[in-house]
Amino acid sequence: MVATDYEAVPAVAGDAETSSHGTLVMKFGGTSVADTERLKAVAKRIVAAREEGERVVAVLSAMGDSTDDLVALAYEMSPRPKPRELDMLISVGERISCALAAMAIHDLGHEAISLTGSQAGIVTDTTHGKAKIVDVRARRIHEALDAGRIVLVAGFQGVSTDYDITTLGRGGSDTTAVALAAALGAAVCEIYTDVDGVFTADPRVMPEARKLHAVSYEEMLEMAASGAKVLQLRSVEFARNHGVMLHVRSSFNPAAGTWVIEEDERMLEKAMISGVTHTLEETLYWVEEVSASRLFASLADSSVNVDTIVQTGETEIVFSAPSDDASAVTEALDGLGVPWRARDDLGKVSLIGAGMKSHPGVAARMFAVLDDESIEPKIVTTSPIKIACHIPREDVERAVRALHHAFELHRPDAERPHAS
Ligand code: ASP
Ligand code: MG
Repeated sequence: MVATDYEAVPAVAGDAETSSHGTLVMKFGGTSVADTERLKAVAKRIVAAREEGERVVAVLSAMGDSTDDLVALAYEMSPRPKPRELDMLISVGERISCALAAMAIHDLGHEAISLTGSQAGIVTDTTHGKAKIVDVRARRIHEALDAGRIVLVAGFQGVSTDYDITTLGRGGSDTTAVALAAALGAAVCEIYTDVDGVFTADPRVMPEARKLHAVSYEEMLEMAASGAKVLQLRSVEFARNHGVMLHVRSSFNPAAGTWVIEEDERMLEKAMISGVTHTLEETLYWVEEVSASRLFASLADSSVNVDTIVQTGETEIVFSAPSDDASAVTEALDGLGVPWRARDDLGKVSLIGAGMKSHPGVAARMFAVLDDESIEPKIVTTSPIKIACHIPREDVERAVRALHHAFELHRPDAERPHAS
């Protein structure tokens, strides 16, 4: 297959200068559109925004777990479904949501049109299952908005430069929404979901976790990359690169959620740490007798999302990748014909905070907390605003609670004010 060259985050043909700031992009996740009653509630919310005078583009996910069901159906049919056909199949869920929502909006007395990703002008590269958006040709959306319509766009999908239907990876509707917001020059992209916003930790693990008012793009990138599931990582990259403000909020209540915005000074002053994230879904690999360039080129060819990389000595390289990519990694490593082993009994706990840049001692405190819990980090990796430890999987949730407590993330006075 021909690979298409693309920029890591493409320059979306911006209509930003011509379009008014009265354009609002609203994205609704699977739980928010899980059944017809919820879809009707979503339709009302979309209509309410329209009645406030906004030009409204709504991006919908597939209903409930229907994408999972479609994937399962494919594997019932074939042990190795052809990627092109798999995309053809799993892109259907979002079309269903959009068509149904358009019907409900008509019943509320407004004009609406549903569009597939392809009709909406979302052009991607040719990597099925993980396609990247290379262009947004939003002419059709503009025309519909100009005609006073509400536009519903099927998330998670596009059309490749080879004219095939592609999907953007699980959670990809977030990226559809942010790419459209960037292309349409919308100032804000609202992400409606089944939680109230971005939390200091996963509330299922840490019930005392607090909703954050605001996080910086960099913090949100680190959070999404290290286990926070609320936004697809790529959507955050897109938002940062195009300056799209995100507002992550609940579709079940009107309360404000969490803003994802440019870092401002108050973020640095107030809280040293914004959150503790964790993941149980990573596999670590130890590879020998291969140069880093050869190894990572081969992994990239197989579209593996490598996360942590540690080069320990002359001969050994350690890296981590999502458990979902395990078969792609196996294929790539076997293809290289080098000795390797994998371990998937480790998870990862990460501390994230823009304030870390100006407050030394976070790592020392993190290790002391883990030490008190008799948890031994196996691999430690850092960025200017993150410290991550791979630890035994069964210790991960306990580590999250201990760190949340030690860094006093439950305290409301640790909160930062809104930036706007
Ligand atoms: N329906 C797709 C998924 O379940 C895309 C999305 O919801 O963002 O991953
Ligand atoms: Mg999602």
